[in-house]
Amino acid sequence: MLLLWLKKLKSYPGFKLFTHHSLKKIEKDKSLFFDFKGQEVKVDPSKNMAVLFSLGGGSWSKTGSDGLWTDLFSNLGLKMAPFQSMNSGFETDWSPHFKKKVNWSPLKNIKLSFKDHSVRGELIFTPYGLEGGPLYELSALVRDSREKAQVLLDFFPDLSQKEVLSKIHKPRGKNSLSNHLRKKLKLSGLAFSLLKERTSKEEFKDLDLLGQKLKALPLDLLRPRPMEESISTSGGIHFDNLDNSLMIKKMPGFYVAGEMLDWEAPTGGYLLQGCFSTAYKASQSILSFLDN
Ligand SMILES: Cc1cc2nc3c(=O)[nH]c(=O)nc-3n(C[C@H](O)[C@H](O)[C@H](O)COP(=O)(O)OP(=O)(O)OC[C@H]3O[C@@H](n4cnc5c(N)ncnc54)[C@H](O)[C@@H]3O)c2cc1C
Repeated sequence: MLLLWLKKLKSYPGFKLFTHHSLKKIEKDKSLFFDFKGQEVKVDPSKNMAVLFSLGGGSWSKTGSDGLWTDLFSNLGLKMAPFQSMNSGFETDWSPHFKKKVNWSPLKNIKLSFKDHSVRGELIFTPYGLEGGPLYELSALVRDSREKAQVLLDFFPDLSQKEVLSKIHKPRGKNSLSNHLRKKLKLSGLAFSLLKERTSKEEFKDLDLLGQKLKALPLDLLRPRPMEESISTSGGIHFDNLDNSLMIKKMPGFYVAGEMLDWEAPTGGYLLQGCFSTAYKASQSILSFLDN
């Protein structure tokens, strides 16, 4: 797809593609300075110059999105919001016993809740804590919460509390508790270990309490994983710097799109959609800017 686009662009008169050029400086007169294999390349400003910046957020620097561009724009007097982890995993304090059992193992079709927000999906258990879609979606709320961050895990979002309790109380015969829960509720080995990890011995003997825990098991989140690992970052260039066409008010002809803008969205296509939409808007604005 990208190659097709490049091929199409190459057919435009005057089109040039410069790869491996890293933007290092922007002057107030709109001169741009790049580094190309250790050499400085300057692009002089011109009357009909339009630039679309899409330099990404501040995580996953191995893909080039190192967020080092923030200085270039704050030096121009632009208002910047600090980068923060978004769509990130969290660390927990698993016991050494449970830590050994988890190896990026999933619990599917669960519901995770934080305050009055709930998200369904798949949660991944890692030796350091938790990853997965529902947690990513709740991550900004958890991150911004000043209270102790405790999420509640519902192992059976399709069953009511009453239904879980009625299944748990079915005759157990000679089955062990884990076998009983596996047979009556299809509770997986990982889910059973987690239940054991997060309940006291007394609670574990009380089937009513256990049934409640299966619908709302508290999990303490200690801290988000390092920002570098986050799928995306909030923060970057504040929208106050831009007009409605996504042009930097102080620098006519300079436009910004994508994750370098200060907005946030859950992963699962919404980030990409936000990037494509702002890029589309900015490129349409550039066409009108150049026409005038
Ligand atoms: C592991 C992972 C999984 C993801 N999964 C999803 C998903 O399932 N759904 C979803 O919606 N989103 C997902 N995302 C997020 C999505 O990929 C990003 O939000 C999106 O790619 C951001 O696009 P962008 O163009 O703004 O920036 P980027 O794609 O980060 O591109 C920025 C580019 O700018 C370049 N650059 C940076 N600084 C300079 C400089 N000074 N000079 C020159 N070039 C520079 C970088 O090298 C990079 O090529 C995922 C991200 C990661 C890391």
